[in-house]
Amino acid sequence: MKRVFSGMRPTGKLHLGHLAGALTNWVKLQDSYECYYSIVDWHAMMSDYEDSSMISQNCTEVLLDWLASGISPEKSCVFVQSHVHEHAELALALGMVTPLGWLFRNPIYKEQLRNIENRDIQNYGFLGYPILMAADILLYKAGIVPVGEDQDAHLELSREIARRFNHFFGENRLPEPEMLLTPTPKVPGTDGRKMSKSYNNSLLISEDSLSMWAKLKTMVTDPARIKRTDPGDPEKCPVWDIQKVFNSDEQELLEIASGCRSAGIGCVDCKKKLNNHVERVMAPIHERRKKYENSPGLLSDILNEGAKRARKTARETMSELREAMGLLIES
Ligand code: ADP
Repeated sequence: MKRVFSGMRPTGKLHLGHLAGALTNWVKLQDSYECYYSIVDWHAMMSDYEDSSMISQNCTEVLLDWLASGISPEKSCVFVQSHVHEHAELALALGMVTPLGWLFRNPIYKEQLRNIENRDIQNYGFLGYPILMAADILLYKAGIVPVGEDQDAHLELSREIARRFNHFFGENRLPEPEMLLTPTPKVPGTDGRKMSKSYNNSLLISEDSLSMWAKLKTMVTDPARIKRTDPGDPEKCPVWDIQKVFNSDEQELLEIASGCRSAGIGCVDCKKKLNNHVERVMAPIHERRKKYENSPGLLSDILNEGAKRARKTARETMSELREAMGLLIES
């Protein structure tokens, strides 16, 4: 069975963008692939090193959101990156063959240098992020990596790093991973920009229905619809983008779209309909989250078991690679 690797950083509770843009797809992949899903805490350290006090608690929040969304520890290997030391070891090895120019030219790095103002990211961890990411994937020889378009450049670097490693240490030693683009478009947040923790515009997976509705109710809509009687354009409305993700009633969607264009329905009516669908989708998710929240012992069992499974594969890869690199093998 082909292997899948993907990860998320433990930087806080996950939101509906993570659910629709990644987790729903991860859940499906579990039935056709051997999946490794990692809470990548070393990657969180990259940006949070000045105050890392929340990382361990955030690992638990991410795990809860994953399990609630349907990630199954029986089907998939669910683990914390730092529990498997080989991630750090392979990152070190890959760093030996990665030209600095590749890292400095990485468009994601350049963009973040321009945009991130509230923390000092002039460190190696930040520059070397793609090396650690390559190690995460290549350690499991994962052929498939489901990621959003935003990670395109990083995945391409993983492929180049694998090629370069193979050039020095043996053809096909590390398989070049393929990107599996998640078909869902960007989920907007309450302010209309991409839903993101850093914009403070998120609807959280763990959010109860009252607070979800309070946020939805005030969400921005087509800016041209100021009064109830103004006709709107769904294509200019972020609420419509969320409707398309959560509303599975085709007939109702048609009615909403034409009602918006003719000012036949108001924005609040549209949001109420959306809220019903969000509630329906979230009900079983919240139920599962509650169940796991009440069993902390089970959570650590899941992570221990996941780390054990991941370590087994990681150790196999590393002993093969150490030998390929010509290191003296411990006897
Ligand atoms: P990280 O966990 O690496 O910091 P993000 O928090 O940006 O990355 O999200 C992880 C993945 O979740 C992204 O690669 C993307 O696929 C998906 N995702 C995040 N936010 C959204 C969104 N608003 N709409 C769609 N998908 C999203």
